Amino acid sequence: MKTIQQQLLDLTLHLQASGLNEGSSGNCSIRDRDGFYITPSGLNPKAMSIDDMVFMDFKGTIQSSQKPPREPSSEWRFHHDILKTRKDANVVIHTHSTFATTLSLFRKDIPAFHYMIAIAGGNSIRCTKYELFGTQALSDEALIALNERKACLLANHGMIVIGRDIEDALNISHEVERLCEQYTYALQMGSPTILTDKEMGEVTERFKSYGNWKKP
Ligand code: 13P
Ligand code: ZN
Repeated sequence: MKTIQQQLLDLTLHLQASGLNEGSSGNCSIRDRDGFYITPSGLNPKAMSIDDMVFMDFKGTIQSSQKPPREPSSEWRFHHDILKTRKDANVVIHTHSTFATTLSLFRKDIPAFHYMIAIAGGNSIRCTKYELFGTQALSDEALIALNERKACLLANHGMIVIGRDIEDALNISHEVERLCEQYTYALQMGSPTILTDKEMGEVTERFKSYGNWKKP
């Protein structure tokens, strides 16, 4: 079994290798005991080792095994606030992926143009108000946009996805980025037809049994 630090390093490397993040943009965290491990601030994943991963508890105490100590991601506030309040989340992924960021420039929710919008937990993917990166105000806005949802856009910035485990969070991250790509293309051609609340209600019902054969 890999350590949490190793799983976090593998996750941040995957986010970069798959094109969801570039350079030191974006960050991720995984719940552990009474806190979480989070990627260090300002480092390219290619330059990170497992010892660079920073542990933080829910009182805000930071532990780094490196000398000099690594700083946690500048976005530790929303990782902390999400993992503290969302018991359904064990993994938080933040990306500046191209299409999520493109749509975030419009500061609007993404409507149900495709039934897979339901993967984020509702009939839309909400977008926050604009707030400066690394601030408590951004974290507060993110928690509002993520209420009963698993993904949101951050205005003029990118997206956040939460998942019950790494596979779940990655699956949603890739799907949301794909949805943002599709919606960006659709907007070039005019105003796409949006599914009604009734149609999305039917999707939600169907999702309750979809893929259940994989569950033990
Ligand atoms: P960090 O390098 O501090 O994680 O910041 C990257 C980022 O995406 C800030 O929003
Ligand atoms: Zn960011």
